[in-house]
Amino acid sequence: MKIGIPRALLYYQYYRVWKTFFTTLGAEVVLSDKTTKDILDNGVVATVNDACLPLKVFHGAVINLIGKVDYIFIPRLKSVAKGEYICPKFCGLPDMVRYSVKNLPPIIDTEVNIRKKPRQLYKAFLSAGLYITKDKNLIKLAYHKALFENALFIEKLEKGNALLDVLANKKSTNKKGELTVAVLGHKYNVYDQYVNMNLFENLTKNNVSVITAENISDKICNDYAAKLPKKVFWSFARKLIGAANHLAKENIVDGVIYIMSFGCGIDSFVADICERTLRKNKTPFFLMMIDEHSGQGGFNTRLEAFLDMIKWRRKDDLDISPYGERVYIGKDAI
Ligand code: SF4
Repeated sequence: MKIGIPRALLYYQYYRVWKTFFTTLGAEVVLSDKTTKDILDNGVVATVNDACLPLKVFHGAVINLIGKVDYIFIPRLKSVAKGEYICPKFCGLPDMVRYSVKNLPPIIDTEVNIRKKPRQLYKAFLSAGLYITKDKNLIKLAYHKALFENALFIEKLEKGNALLDVLANKKSTNKKGELTVAVLGHKYNVYDQYVNMNLFENLTKNNVSVITAENISDKICNDYAAKLPKKVFWSFARKLIGAANHLAKENIVDGVIYIMSFGCGIDSFVADICERTLRKNKTPFFLMMIDEHSGQGGFNTRLEAFLDMIKWRRKDDLDISPYGERVYIGKDAI
């Protein structure tokens, strides 16, 4: 039996978990192709008008799997951590796809909601597993293997490996560049090379080493997020806000790039909180807003300007405050 997994949205978070689970049950996992202009264009045509870019990519990825698989796995994700939510778009995703895309194979739309009871997670895996086999012992085994795989995945990321390398079972080289920049944002924006307009390649070419929120441990992010006056109840936002606070406090990067989808309600808060946090610490911040009309040329120019600004600040104008509090040139104060 072939299970299709769209290479979009939470593929970047849970692919290793889903793949381990389904292959342990004896199914073959088929991934959609990497995002291309055609995939995005198909998604744009199929999706409702006010959808964000990642949803459009997701619809395109689903269309890419039609005719290649027996089922498409589109879980209905309501909550992935106790007491927290994720973006409501994930909750309606299977329905949105059913409504918008024609000639679909059956969808495995198991519901994941562990907001009140983390034990519900096994029920979610059980309901997905029953599409493949009636053997509940095998499903339980696959569930435990999947959780173990998830722990390994997180451990590798927290050791500094790049997420795309871990997904591809490759070792990261971790070469130290002239500058270090953190790239923050939802994983499907940060790691989809088409969506991020080859940001990582571009940074490497410019001798910049990159860290992402995934390279900072959950514990550190959670501890910083817990210091905020109000609980952050969106799971992925907690990680990003915690990471921004950590970067600001520890001063370990030369700048931060935040990738945000146009029209994303959650990011309109989260990117703003991250920006304010980092600006307080005078960390250069570049908000990269993306949608299906974003162009490579304009983006490259803005990125180069951002990197030049950081380099000039380090080299000649180390003490020039961009915030107007006080101005120094070299050692001589004005
Ligand atoms: S969090 Fe934002 S970018 Fe992600 S699915 Fe929701 S609206 Fe789209």
